[in-house]
Amino acid sequence: MSHRALRIGHLFPDLLNLYADRGNILTLTQRLRWRGRDVIVDEITHADTPRFGAYDLVLLGGGSDREQMLVAGYLANHRTELRHAIEDGLPLLAICGGYQLLGAYYQVPGGEKIPGLELIDMVTNYSAGQPRLIGNVAILTEEAGVVIGFENHGGRTIHQGAPLGKVIHGHGNDGVTGLEGIRYRNVWGTYIHGPLLPKNPRLADAILKTMLQYAGVDDALDPLDDSMEEEARRSFVKLRMPEVEA
Ligand code: GLN
Repeated sequence: MSHRALRIGHLFPDLLNLYADRGNILTLTQRLRWRGRDVIVDEITHADTPRFGAYDLVLLGGGSDREQMLVAGYLANHRTELRHAIEDGLPLLAICGGYQLLGAYYQVPGGEKIPGLELIDMVTNYSAGQPRLIGNVAILTEEAGVVIGFENHGGRTIHQGAPLGKVIHGHGNDGVTGLEGIRYRNVWGTYIHGPLLPKNPRLADAILKTMLQYAGVDDALDPLDDSMEEEARRSFVKLRMPEVEA
């Protein structure tokens, strides 16, 4: 077993941390530490030059339109390096505003387009007069069963790629197609905040699996005692989305 520490890059924790997206990093880190792995988390801000090749996983969280615009500007200069890393298999978890940034643009109600990073063939539109898509959400995923959480977005995202899951409860990408998020190479894009991973340990492990593969570490992910997480999921779903079997 190799003992190199795994390295996570948290992009713009100061700007993109809506609804405590940082909790996703804490979950990934703790689940690795419980399995005896060392993890280093680098917080990357606009003052840094991100070196995507140095990370085993990167998180891009959600934010308001204003913060998204700032981040789009900062990241534009590093787009090519990020694209190469993603094509090479870098695991990237992108939440809500961060998810929208992966596409060509996010058009806000005034008609202005916030340019995206064009890493994935997708667009997001938010037309004047459209309601925001807010509430608890449950989706059925191939890799992690039922994934639950909370969404709050104005943008409607359209792509022809594989979704993260199919909506059981809530709105998802656009409130119409019944699809939620995107899966592309080792990219996990989703509107689910809340944060996502503390509520969904199976998804956390599915992401960690891609991270270990990418890092060239062949440890098996030993099962953890998730009884507390499972109990929390059951109570939340029973209370808020009783028709869902989680
Ligand atoms: N600003 C984006 C929207 O409202 C994303 C918001 C978010 O990250 N929650 O569509």
